[in-house]
Amino acid sequence: MSLDIDISTDGVLTADTHLVQSFADLNALKQDGNRTAIVGAEGAFVTDSEGQQLIDGIGGLWCVNAGHKRKEIIDAITDQLNTLDYYSTFYNFTHPTAAALSAKLAELAPGHLNAVHFGNSGSVANDSAIRILHHYYNRLGKPNKKLVLSRQGAYHGSTYLAMAMTQPAYSTGWDTAQGLVHHLRCPHHWREGEGMTETEFLDVLLDDAKSRIEALGAENIACFIAEPIQGAGGLIVPPEGYHAKMGALMRDYDIKYITDEVVTSFGRLGHFFASKDVFGVQPDIITTAKGLTSGYQPLSATILSDEIHEVISGEGAMFLHGMTYSGHPAASAAALANIALMERDQIPERVRTTGKRFESNLRELADLDLVGEVRGSHFMMGIEFVKDKEKKTPFEPEDQIGLKIARAAQNRGLIARPLGNILILSPTLIMTEELIDQTSGILRDSITEVQSAL
Ligand code: PMP
Repeated sequence: MSLDIDISTDGVLTADTHLVQSFADLNALKQDGNRTAIVGAEGAFVTDSEGQQLIDGIGGLWCVNAGHKRKEIIDAITDQLNTLDYYSTFYNFTHPTAAALSAKLAELAPGHLNAVHFGNSGSVANDSAIRILHHYYNRLGKPNKKLVLSRQGAYHGSTYLAMAMTQPAYSTGWDTAQGLVHHLRCPHHWREGEGMTETEFLDVLLDDAKSRIEALGAENIACFIAEPIQGAGGLIVPPEGYHAKMGALMRDYDIKYITDEVVTSFGRLGHFFASKDVFGVQPDIITTAKGLTSGYQPLSATILSDEIHEVISGEGAMFLHGMTYSGHPAASAAALANIALMERDQIPERVRTTGKRFESNLRELADLDLVGEVRGSHFMMGIEFVKDKEKKTPFEPEDQIGLKIARAAQNRGLIARPLGNILILSPTLIMTEELIDQTSGILRDSITEVQSAL
């Protein structure tokens, strides 16, 4: 395909002035023009418009799990488009690829999660989960059971409802839907549990949840939504046993448990889904996107329990929800090929070894003065930088510490994602041991360089 623009760096960046970037300081982009045009990708690498090859340390946006340019996925998309380019899953229509994918997801999802509604982004998957649950409670004659419990540190997406479920800090200067969502405490022991053991901190979190539920009234609360590991909120791993205990608490109060596995599923933590296999909780709904197609096509899924499905498909029920691209043939084909590839190459199983090496390599960076905490699991890691290690003093936003280190890493051939004082790493899951070691080496050099310039 030929583009109508010049694809040199200057050409791309000139056309790009018409593009509104997401989650960006648009004014700073205008002023300093510090944008990177990615023009190609293969395996664990991407190439920028200057011809520099970079390790894709963030897997696109924690999504290119199977790696870039996988022929099997590309061929499946092309074959699908040559067979059936588009048809909807509205009304009484269906098509073989979406049907096959729903069956495959029912097989992979834990417990009795066997009913799948498709969307086209993680945000939409989460909005759908809430809309569907509200409808479910209406049908049960419990129209007041509508509130949503989320958490400080959460990220659930950018649509109006998903952003209301996200931690409020993400909407500074923006509005969110009011009145529906209540945020429980963030389960970050290192920052929030000062002076407590992890077990004591877990008790505090459970007490907080319990008292919030009692105050709001369980009869008014529809669900609790939680990422197994909080990602874009700062890479926060909850205390051991947190999800299992919160799961039991919610069950006692008849509150549904939604796990947002938009990032943690499809191999990133060594399993297709992490809720039960890693965190010991059986959710009522799982939402997923990103690694579902390894990012080759936009697709998300809201996977419902048999019990919820039964109620919303009972007599007189009308499912008034869906998106034009729900179960898009090309996206469904991409997901099926991606899953087949992951099963054939045993990607989740391999991540249990390679991801552990990545994690332990990164943990070794904790000896550097700038590094306050290295946290995460397998190929989902974060490094938090501090001014004073003992006191855990954060840098000021204007210090732009994450950004400086990310830029130093990019100059050395690695893309990492700055998030204030934190650097996020979520590479493709096909990283070899050699690349893993190279990545941690680049990070050490980049942090040391910025540290000495301070
Ligand atoms: N949930 C989580 C946990 C996410 O990390 C994200 C995106 N980073 C979303 C939901 C939203 O997904 P999307 O950007 O596809 O709407």
